[in-house]
Amino acid sequence: MPEGHSVHRLARQFQDVFGGSALRVSSPQGRFAAGAALLDGQCLLEATAHGKQLFLRFANGLYLHVHLGLYGAWDFGGDDTFRGSSSIGAPRRIGERESGSVENSGSYSGPPEPVGAVRVRLVSAHGWADLRGASTCAAITGEEARAARAKLGPDPLHLAPGDREEFIARLLRRKTAVGLLLMDQSVLAGVGNIYRAEVLFRQGIDPWTPGNTLSVESAGLLWDDTVAAMSDGVRDGRIITTPAALWSGGDAGPLDGEAHYVYQRAGQECRRCGAAVALTEIGARKLYWCPGCQN
Ligand SMILES: [Zn+2]
Repeated sequence: MPEGHSVHRLARQFQDVFGGSALRVSSPQGRFAAGAALLDGQCLLEATAHGKQLFLRFANGLYLHVHLGLYGAWDFGGDDTFRGSSSIGAPRRIGERESGSVENSGSYSGPPEPVGAVRVRLVSAHGWADLRGASTCAAITGEEARAARAKLGPDPLHLAPGDREEFIARLLRRKTAVGLLLMDQSVLAGVGNIYRAEVLFRQGIDPWTPGNTLSVESAGLLWDDTVAAMSDGVRDGRIITTPAALWSGGDAGPLDGEAHYVYQRAGQECRRCGAAVALTEIGARKLYWCPGCQN
């Protein structure tokens, strides 16, 4: 499942390639035909993300609300002008992993025939985007969009005044293990399995620590480090939580297996203390951690 940084990159890409354009909206697969009819022909005003959820606001006041879930992905393509103008570039596909850059062809003559179960297709004069496999795809009102966001905790990539304090308060009032709370989207929106493991390691926190036994200071540092790690992810387009000093290729970037401290490194030596990285299950998800550093 894509973590919050990918969904924020996705929102930027929608803003870059479709913002201010009237879009043809359809559901080649048919499951979203009624919703697509409500949005068809409308101008896309704004694309935003909160945690792992994407909100596309149209001129008639309705939103396209998408949560990719475990299997969802967007594919993009278009002519030479159809690309993200931001420095992050424009991934061709954003799902569990991002890949490539948008396939641009100078002689664009409309999108290809839909392949597979395309839930929704957006088309402008210059390009197209196809959504497949999402767990949520709905046309909703502004009030429904506000209600959906209100259920979510603060987003480390969409900072609002008071978010840090709000996160600390939500963490400290629960007896649940902090390793579970970080994945609870009502406590913190956007963190998934990789950031959860890596940030707990970087902060030296035992994942089984009950939220209400953390100090205000360590909860605050946990927030700050999550903001820093995820902001790096938006910039890099991938999750890298280790410093260049640990990469054998130096500034060229981490090789496979060097980008993380503990995630998917069960049994290997901890990069800090040399202990074997441990693997456990928490909330039916795999959790990687170092018993030497996180206690
Ligand atoms: Zn260690």
